[in-house]
Amino acid sequence: MIVIGAGGSAAAYELIQLGYDVTILEAQDHVGGHVLTVRGGVTTEEHGKGVQECTWDEGVWWDAGPSRVPFFHRAFFHYCQQLGIPLIDHKNLNLNGWAYAEGIEGSLDGTRMRVRELQADMGGYTSSLLAKAAESSTIDDELSADDLEMLIDYLVSWGMISSDDLNYTGTSRRGYAVPPDTQSSGEVADPFPLEDLLPFASAIMGSNSGYLAATASPTWQTTMVKCADGIGQLFDSGFREFFGERLMLNSEVTEINNTDVGVSVVYLNRETGEEEQISADYCVCNIPLSVLIKLNTNFSREFTEAMRSVPYAMSLRMGMQFNQRFWETEDWIYGGQSFSSIGELGILGYPDDNYNAEKGALLAMYNFGNNSARVSSLSYEERAELALDYGSRIHPQMREHYHSAFSVAWHLMPYSLGAWPSYTEEVREQVMPTLQEPEGNVYLVGEHLSHVNSWMEGAFQSAWMQIPKLHQRVMGS
Ligand SMILES: Cc1cc2nc3c(=O)[nH]c(=O)nc-3n(C[C@H](O)[C@H](O)[C@H](O)COP(=O)(O)OP(=O)(O)OC[C@H]3O[C@@H](n4cnc5c(N)ncnc54)[C@H](O)[C@@H]3O)c2cc1C
Repeated sequence: MIVIGAGGSAAAYELIQLGYDVTILEAQDHVGGHVLTVRGGVTTEEHGKGVQECTWDEGVWWDAGPSRVPFFHRAFFHYCQQLGIPLIDHKNLNLNGWAYAEGIEGSLDGTRMRVRELQADMGGYTSSLLAKAAESSTIDDELSADDLEMLIDYLVSWGMISSDDLNYTGTSRRGYAVPPDTQSSGEVADPFPLEDLLPFASAIMGSNSGYLAATASPTWQTTMVKCADGIGQLFDSGFREFFGERLMLNSEVTEINNTDVGVSVVYLNRETGEEEQISADYCVCNIPLSVLIKLNTNFSREFTEAMRSVPYAMSLRMGMQFNQRFWETEDWIYGGQSFSSIGELGILGYPDDNYNAEKGALLAMYNFGNNSARVSSLSYEERAELALDYGSRIHPQMREHYHSAFSVAWHLMPYSLGAWPSYTEEVREQVMPTLQEPEGNVYLVGEHLSHVNSWMEGAFQSAWMQIPKLHQRVMGS
């Protein structure tokens, strides 16, 4: 068996477990594909941008691709367990993180507030409005008198509004103007006025695909999981060690042809510059469709058209090392994220490990679509400058403690050419049945074969679908 691409890696793992003789051809000098844990010494070369080398200090790392997994992605947990990879929490929501909005009406334009202030005030005001509507019976078509009473009780607790007049006047949930201490029980800070808060809240909720709101969903829930040393640990220490000598790095496949007796694959040995050819009974191909469509193949017209129909999304992420963890020492933020209304900046993400260490890396920019197109057109240095400019609006200390940045525009990475497949339901329905079937002796695997796009789980599950099919065929032949 030839496996092309050591991205998701589950296909090669399962074939080896079944006892097949497997050769894995991987174009890059590492496994993982879209999984890339960046540390000092890591290099990338985007199309037209030259080589970028990470100069961070030892022990500082950040995930340029996947960084977190929800609890129901069982294949991820399965492989971490099989390969002995330790897991830690990933905080998606930290109420002490910042929310920042600009270009809005009202007194909160260009200001930051804690996420807890935003959530407590919006929860309080909306509870108050709904409770008053319930009390004045403007929604009694929907609910019985008993239900209305229960709804009001619920809103009093949920929004921390007064049970007497149903007004919201602030709550300790949003934090204190004077914190409790040995001398007093503190003073709760006044809420922001609703008319100023609404444009702020709407700008935050409307930006970055509603990231803050999404933390209430199972997929991006408040706490998620990741590998203790970055997601790359599952691939670099886990799969790579398991593959051993079956793995041929720096082997860029340029041609895949079905033959009468199997498959013939041509690849460029990037170490020697030589073109080489190998054959096998079957090939399992993990290359993203955006890259695969550019290779020479003798695939059928229908299969080729199906591959061509799948568009890929743009996304850019940037990590930055700082010489002091000012977000912890000065802002008291330990893990989690800050949310901005600036499309090109997106969110800031804080490390969930090594609290109180001297140095650390932040997710300093995460954007999508046209925002990524604009930022990725800049040089690596210009991107970092832009991120510092935006980030300093939330953390004015950024420049003072800045060490260096590392950015990855996934649509410009030669072996990815996109962040993830961006299916419409129509295209999915049209092409998925074709792509999920073998093309002669070639079976595709990868997240593009799944409905779980933009998640490693989709790639793992595709292997769990394809490898049993292939095994059954071999056993039957
Ligand atoms: C910015 C970003 C954030 C993400 N966040 C998350 C997250 O938080 N959690 C999560 O679960 N998922 C996340 N994902 C999605 C996740 O990265 C992917 O779903 C998954 O890694 C895809 O795996 P794959 O095997 O399908 O493809 P890939 O990982 O792309 O693997 C393809 C492999 O083929 C190799 N290859 C390509 N061309 C050739 C060639 N010509 N010859 C030989 N080899 C070749 C590549 O080098 C690569 O190793 C994120 C992705 C991005 C881009």
